[in-house]
Amino acid sequence: MKKKNIAILGSTGSIGTQALDVIRAFPEMLEVSVLTASVNADLLIAQARAFKPKAVVIGCETKCARVKSALEDLGIAVYAGDKGLEEVVQLEEIDMVLNAIVGSAGLRPTVKAIERKKDIALANKETLVVAGALIMDLVRQYDVAMLPVDSEHSAIFQCLVGEQDNPIEKIYLTASGGPFRGKDRDFLTAVTKQQALKHPNWVMGAKITIDSASLMNKGLEVIEAKWLFGLEVEQIDVIVHPQSIIHSVVQFQDGSMKAQMGLPDMKLPIQHALTYPRRQPNAFERFNFRNYASLTFEEVDKDTFRNLELAYQSLKDGGDRPCVLNAANEIAVAAFLADEISFLGMSDLIEATMCQQKIVRKPSLEDLLAIDNETRIVARSLVK
Ligand code: NAD
Ligand code: MG
Repeated sequence: MKKKNIAILGSTGSIGTQALDVIRAFPEMLEVSVLTASVNADLLIAQARAFKPKAVVIGCETKCARVKSALEDLGIAVYAGDKGLEEVVQLEEIDMVLNAIVGSAGLRPTVKAIERKKDIALANKETLVVAGALIMDLVRQYDVAMLPVDSEHSAIFQCLVGEQDNPIEKIYLTASGGPFRGKDRDFLTAVTKQQALKHPNWVMGAKITIDSASLMNKGLEVIEAKWLFGLEVEQIDVIVHPQSIIHSVVQFQDGSMKAQMGLPDMKLPIQHALTYPRRQPNAFERFNFRNYASLTFEEVDKDTFRNLELAYQSLKDGGDRPCVLNAANEIAVAAFLADEISFLGMSDLIEATMCQQKIVRKPSLEDLLAIDNETRIVARSLVK
């Protein structure tokens, strides 16, 4: 069997390193052809020496010379910066691009990869939040596979296998509720980034961990689900499920519901996306019903966690609104992590930023990239 050649964008991050663990376990099936990192040159070099890809990209251009000299003996091509990222996804031998970059920086490389007919394994949800309509058009136009890595969307995708002729009535995205589930606004006024960075069920990169604490992550996932599965916003519901065992649920038109469940471990949806349509045996820990007396469900506290409603509203308003929401959120999270604004101040900043810009109805890709940029400038000015 021909091996599947995979480019991992963001290989030094939480998803990227777990993807390499998965690939390491299937040397007969999967091969790494590209690795990329933003700043962590040491880890990128170590990964490249272990997996011997054709090429690597280091985002930070000043580190390029160091990476080159460290990989010279292996004949690995070294690219730098955003341009390097866009070039490298087009390499002939790549079959699939796993996009595990954080933030809207993942958008352009996804577009380039689709245009070169590469299948996409998508962890970078911001790609679909910013430009979901355009991306799904490209996916159809170039006839590539778009496989979700986000656990909720992987769950929905798995529930839909064999159901292509059966319309979805609605979906439930499950949310753990994050570290501040059950807390009120009084409590949240004074929470620190250290508290917000402690997720009860998942270990992830800093940005998505803060998004999970503020429920913006679930808001971004609602938008991601709309585009991936072609749903109306009214068909997407969110329910809090603190144990994170049921990863999401599809309800069909006869009222029957399918759920996908398992222990919370991102390696599972990563492996599913990389090896689809086959399910490969692995040694991951199995769920044991006897360890769980109950699985519980709660309503989201939308008054306390306002980001979820802001995300729903952006989807209802349409056009460039989700792009603006996302850019404002990226600035808000960075400002919170830099101790410049408070936890609750993030929603205020996003709302204020969104109020300052008028809606663009049918933005092109270039429009969205410009709006993403402008929104960041507006949001940053509001932080000061
Ligand atoms: P992370 O911060 O751990 O890693 C991000 C990776 O992207 C790193 O390799 C970094 O070098 C690279 N990167 C960062 N900024 C970049 C830029 N401007 N240009 C190019 N590369 C850049 O993040 P993560 O937790 O692995 O998340 C990655 C994506 O996957 C996010 O979109 C996140 O929402 C999504 N996701 C993550 C998880 C998880 O468990 N970590 C689960 C579901 C979805
Ligand atoms: Mg998720």
